[in-house]
Amino acid sequence: ATHLAAGTTPLSAPNDLDAFWMPYSANRAFKAEPRMITGAKDNHYFTPDGRSILDGTAGLWCCNAGHCRTPVVEAIQTQAASLDFAPTFQFGHPIAFEVASRIASEAPEGLDHVFFANSGSEGVDTALKIALAYHKVKGQGGRTRLIGRERGYHGSGFGGISVGGIVNNRRFYGGLLGGVDHLPHTYNRAEQAFTKGEPEWGAHLADDLENIVALHGADTVAAVIVEPMAGSTGVLPPPKGYLKRLREITSKHGILLIFDEVISAFGRLGTAFAAQRYGVTPDMIVFAKGITSGTVPMGGVIASADIYNGFMDSAGEGMIELFHGYTYSGHPLACAAALATLNVYRDEGLYENAAKLEGMFADAAHSYLADLDIVEDIRTCGIVTGVDITPLEGKPTARAFAAMQDAFYNQDMMIRVTGDTIALSPPLTFAESDVDQMFAGLKRTLQAVS
Ligand code: PLP
Repeated sequence: ATHLAAGTTPLSAPNDLDAFWMPYSANRAFKAEPRMITGAKDNHYFTPDGRSILDGTAGLWCCNAGHCRTPVVEAIQTQAASLDFAPTFQFGHPIAFEVASRIASEAPEGLDHVFFANSGSEGVDTALKIALAYHKVKGQGGRTRLIGRERGYHGSGFGGISVGGIVNNRRFYGGLLGGVDHLPHTYNRAEQAFTKGEPEWGAHLADDLENIVALHGADTVAAVIVEPMAGSTGVLPPPKGYLKRLREITSKHGILLIFDEVISAFGRLGTAFAAQRYGVTPDMIVFAKGITSGTVPMGGVIASADIYNGFMDSAGEGMIELFHGYTYSGHPLACAAALATLNVYRDEGLYENAAKLEGMFADAAHSYLADLDIVEDIRTCGIVTGVDITPLEGKPTARAFAAMQDAFYNQDMMIRVTGDTIALSPPLTFAESDVDQMFAGLKRTLQAVS
């Protein structure tokens, strides 16, 4: 290992970057030409060479209130100085209860109980474990099968990659969880290319759940987990009517429906939760990211009263009802950050701002990009867009990677790429002029890599 003097910032010596094994990253390419970020405020990041970078991705779909917002910063500082940590196993601290109540009050009717984790991945594992344990305590322990969806992303835990459907995230890791099935994904370019919002085609794909249930027997199926809008695979808005159909089929067969709203919650689609945008109430919602606007790690699950009460009624007096949790479930700093963030969303009307921006956002995406030769499809939903570009022959992902580099260095803009899709999901604090600037910059980038 290379040893650095205390206080040395290893910005100019790429070999000093060796120790950090970066997640989901091309480590060698990054370390040869680092895209380093050293500060942030509102809708911008700052680089060591003094550039302001427009944040087209809200960090990793998480900084929905923008960056380093004063009320959030102050809440974290105050909390750190007054109660740094207290256990939530058999003890409690008031702000955890306050945040849980606040989240429940924003959630759809009937989703009243919040279990805290520290990330989306932990939230997903929590929801899957609750689903299995719920059936067990209800006397239906034969319901052990979990159903995800092709192209789904549910984080990086063993539970999440088992129900997830992104091939590279699964194929290196052996057998994964047994008893998992997958619904087909909902993308069909021939039916929906260049659609704004949810495509008309595809609701019938939910009916595949009936086939899976018929194959295994309903009494073996615990839960279905889907992202209402699949984000990480490249932005797939749900076909109109699809989620309602999933709800009908799961309810009919006593199967729990879990929405993984790690990306879609907290205003990304113009409502607190995607469940509200689509008028479909699942049995559990997984959240993370936007809950603290990315400032302090936090995730969790919002469960129905029926699920919570099932556990409360099952265990003897004074006994633990659910054997699950994390040291940092309901961490005081995360709770302080969450409460302050939810206040910013409310006080600044940021969910409403996202809803108001949506039409202009979709129009801008199409008017700037649709005519470019390398653009094969554009999908939009809330303030999210996925833009598929033509891969370089024989070099999948290379053109998208080049676009990310060009956007960062030449357009002063952060974009996210997944495969040969570019995903944009800016903070909800964007104004129309920021949206315009972002798509204009992306257009120049796509021209540069054409
Ligand atoms: N679920 C969904 C839908 C996500 O988009 C993500 C992250 O992008 C996760 C789960 C995992 O969250 P984390 O990276 O916080 O573990």
